[in-house]
Amino acid sequence: MTVTHDDVVRWIRAFADAIAQNKDSLTDLDSAIGDADHGINMHRGMTAVLAKMDGDGSADIGALLKTVGMTLVSSVGGAGGPLYGTLFLRLGAAAAGKEELTDEDWVAMVTAGVEGVQSRGKAEPKDKTMVDALIPARDALASAVAAGEPFADALRSSAAAAEEGMRATIPLVARKGRASYLGERSAGHQDPGATSSWLLMRTAAETFGDHME
Ligand code: ADP
Ligand code: MG
Repeated sequence: MTVTHDDVVRWIRAFADAIAQNKDSLTDLDSAIGDADHGINMHRGMTAVLAKMDGDGSADIGALLKTVGMTLVSSVGGAGGPLYGTLFLRLGAAAAGKEELTDEDWVAMVTAGVEGVQSRGKAEPKDKTMVDALIPARDALASAVAAGEPFADALRSSAAAAEEGMRATIPLVARKGRASYLGERSAGHQDPGATSSWLLMRTAAETFGDHME
């Protein structure tokens, strides 16, 4: 029950596809409480990532994810790009030198990635950011793996927790990022970054879980 380098490539492609498919809805969410560019930003970044990945011949999952992170940092402006860049750089650092991943590796990587997003952006739970999807996803993943659940189930729980966390951003008043400029008026809208983070966890569950049933 391991995730291979090819699986990770499939996941990055699946995330890029999900971003492409949801580009307009992510941008609509950002138009309500931000500056209407989250879908555009993420799409630009993931398009650059796909172009970079075509030339990658190495089997090192850490190196692959580091490339993804560096490409996002250098190709995406705004808050979202550097935060996702940091997330992928930390995933990569936690997977350095690995050609396959166990469920425990994945827990360690996601934990490191979420820590990176928090140390870079200083967002806490309920600040109405991507952290509100990522922390529940990490927690659900870690407890399912610790309980010895099959990896596919742990991944599904993680994606479901991200979705719930994403929906729970709707009533929140934003305390970080551009949405915080709106104060109370940010309530009643789903956070765009939490939405793209749900797509990230959902595509991981779909990709890594599907050959493990
Ligand atoms: P920008 O806000 O610069 O236009 P994006 O629109 O690409 O960048 O991304 C906005 C998303 O970034 C928000 O919906 C939120 O989830 C996330 N975000 C913003 N600031 C922070 C932060 N300090 N910590 C975590 N996430 C943040
Ligand atoms: Mg924006």
